[in-house]
Amino acid sequence: QVRVRFPPSPTGLLTVGNIRSALFNWAFAHHYGGKMVLRIEDTDAARNTPEALAYTLESLRWLGLNWDEGPEVGGEYGPYLQSERFAIYNEISGKLLDAGKAYHCYCSQEELEQRREAARTAGQHSGYDGHCRALTETQVKEYLDAGRRPVLRLRMPDRPITFTDLVRGEITFLPENLGDYVLVRANGHPLYPLVNPVDDALMNITHVLRGEDLLSSTPRQIALYEALGEIGIGNGVAPRFGHLPFVMGEGNKKLSKRDPGSGLGEYMERGFLPEGLLNYLALLGWSIADDRDVFTMDEMIEAFDIRKVNANAARFDPKKCEAINAAHMRLLAPEVFAERLVPFLAKEGLVAAEPTEDQLRMLTAATPLVQERMNTLSEAVDMLGFLFVGEEEFSIDPDAAAKVLTTESGAVLEAASKALADLSEWSTEAIEQALRASLVEGLGLKPKNAFGPVRLAISGRRISPPLFESMELLGREISLGRLDRARE
Ligand code: GLU
Repeated sequence: QVRVRFPPSPTGLLTVGNIRSALFNWAFAHHYGGKMVLRIEDTDAARNTPEALAYTLESLRWLGLNWDEGPEVGGEYGPYLQSERFAIYNEISGKLLDAGKAYHCYCSQEELEQRREAARTAGQHSGYDGHCRALTETQVKEYLDAGRRPVLRLRMPDRPITFTDLVRGEITFLPENLGDYVLVRANGHPLYPLVNPVDDALMNITHVLRGEDLLSSTPRQIALYEALGEIGIGNGVAPRFGHLPFVMGEGNKKLSKRDPGSGLGEYMERGFLPEGLLNYLALLGWSIADDRDVFTMDEMIEAFDIRKVNANAARFDPKKCEAINAAHMRLLAPEVFAERLVPFLAKEGLVAAEPTEDQLRMLTAATPLVQERMNTLSEAVDMLGFLFVGEEEFSIDPDAAAKVLTTESGAVLEAASKALADLSEWSTEAIEQALRASLVEGLGLKPKNAFGPVRLAISGRRISPPLFESMELLGREISLGRLDRARE
């Protein structure tokens, strides 16, 4: 059975890179009817807070990337928080030491640096030189007497390590590039290079799909799996690895978590749909077909093939991300779309969190006017706000006014008022007919000059949903009131 894992370090922020990894694991697991394990890599107490963990879980839930085992859902391989597994790491590092798979190293930082520098000058490889691989008892005693405390290093095999990456094919690392590395600090704190593969082994992980930045740690982890297997932990077989391409941002530089557009919070605030964001992130290295880039998560699961992931760096394109989201917004049933807008309008006080009946009626009538025109849900505040705002709060955007109003606007608005005042029926068609007759035919204005001031008066903006429909929704009284106010 396929078992994958997503192992975030909860430092407070999921980035688009993290989410892409989570998504590919999730799609892969579902494609094969396997299991997705959520493991929290929180051994660094200084950086990993409970709030950050809660936020990480909430973010994954918001995205819909559910997990089969992990915090909140449990599972037979728990605990799933590494901070609760220190006893396990202790025991295993002890066993590795006893079996000679790992050894104590007493070198000080200065000594290591000196020798590294010397190796570099001599044009040799500058990884750990194996100084403490075979210390005598006397030497050990001397170090201990001098008050030194050892780190634990893995004894790396003296041969090349080759594996077939699911994305990049066969990769070989030479032993001269694979120094014995530190598993446990001198203070006893186990490190990522130990705990991550140990948990993968104990949790029976079969496939590791993660970012290319971790490629260089893979041969070391493979060596550790073998060592673990030899002391009876796990089955000694490393999982299959697939390293997902880098995500490049502005200026063709690796997208960093400090770059705008890299943190999930921004997308939640701007009102992306989770399915829209995930669809876009799926395209960072994968595609469902040459001529198609909008798809549902079910379709992704069905089609996902890790071997079809492109090894070349992917470019993060915020415009395309918006366009894909917009496409998903159009796919929503109108009533669902309206529902999704509510929190964004409510946040600005435009509707109640539980909208009133009037507000619901307005929402249902107004959303078809904008569903085709929006990229993100939060745009509704700007686009639809004028339909919900009270007359006391309604205001005209001064920038828009400066652009739209001319010396003749007063006359235009007055004519509009007159034409509408005694319209027998207040409907989109009747409003349009009356305004065309009076402003375009009557005053001889171009439609742009005729309707621009009216739009500004009604919506307070230069750009709005269709004008006549909006006026119908607002009703006669409010529309006429706004036309009058704009003339003041
Ligand atoms: N906790 C590590 C990270 O967030 C996991 C890396 C891995 O997938 O092995 O970078």
